[in-house]
Amino acid sequence: MTTEEIKRYSRQTAVAEIGETGQKCLSGARVFIAGIGGLGGLVSAELAGAGVGEIAFADCGPVEISNLHRQMLYRTPDVGKLKTDIAAETLRALNPHVRITPYEQFLDEAAMRKIFKGFSVVVDCSDNFRTRAAINRICEELKIPCVYGAVYAFEGQASVFMHDGKTPCLECLFPDIGSCADTKCTENGVVGPCASMIASVQAAEAMKIIMGLPSLAGRVLMADMLNNNFTVIPLRKRERCSICIGK
Ligand SMILES: [Zn+2]
Repeated sequence: MTTEEIKRYSRQTAVAEIGETGQKCLSGARVFIAGIGGLGGLVSAELAGAGVGEIAFADCGPVEISNLHRQMLYRTPDVGKLKTDIAAETLRALNPHVRITPYEQFLDEAAMRKIFKGFSVVVDCSDNFRTRAAINRICEELKIPCVYGAVYAFEGQASVFMHDGKTPCLECLFPDIGSCADTKCTENGVVGPCASMIASVQAAEAMKIIMGLPSLAGRVLMADMLNNNFTVIPLRKRERCSICIGK
């Protein structure tokens, strides 16, 4: 590490569980973030700040004015510009030591299979069930840990699917997700701080996976910010899961 990097990460390396060893793990890691909106925007900023070696992300379309209440990477003058362009520029300015790789494209299974290879962790910040199901399938195929997060109004949940043959996956949690109708937050509404909270949980989980610290694998965090109920429930590998069983 350069003198500048030592200074930059000093408050992070001072954490006993991280130290210089953890910092080296972070700088050697590659994280892929699927979606760069309310969840992915904050995840990418936190991981860039933390000094993850490479952050890649995919999204398509421009910043919209209705994004700005929760998507903290973007500002009012960014409306109409491509999200991937603004995100890349902001993250590079935040930490020039991090390699930023934007993909301005929709992620279908074929694209995921090609792009995900070699990444240390995938963070699922997508906004529809079809993409989530596909991310789960491809991460299982490639054996890449995936950090899941979802928000709905004042509620959110997060988990980690290690795809290690031992711990459960997304379809153990939602067996019918592949056949679910798409529901996006454009229809449902989402509270900005709730998205930011779940994004922070996702960023912390990604960092812990990279550094070999305890994660949410085999458990689901359920958060209800309206009533201040925060619980972690156990999640078991489902016997008949078509994705992860027996693999
Ligand atoms: Zn499963």
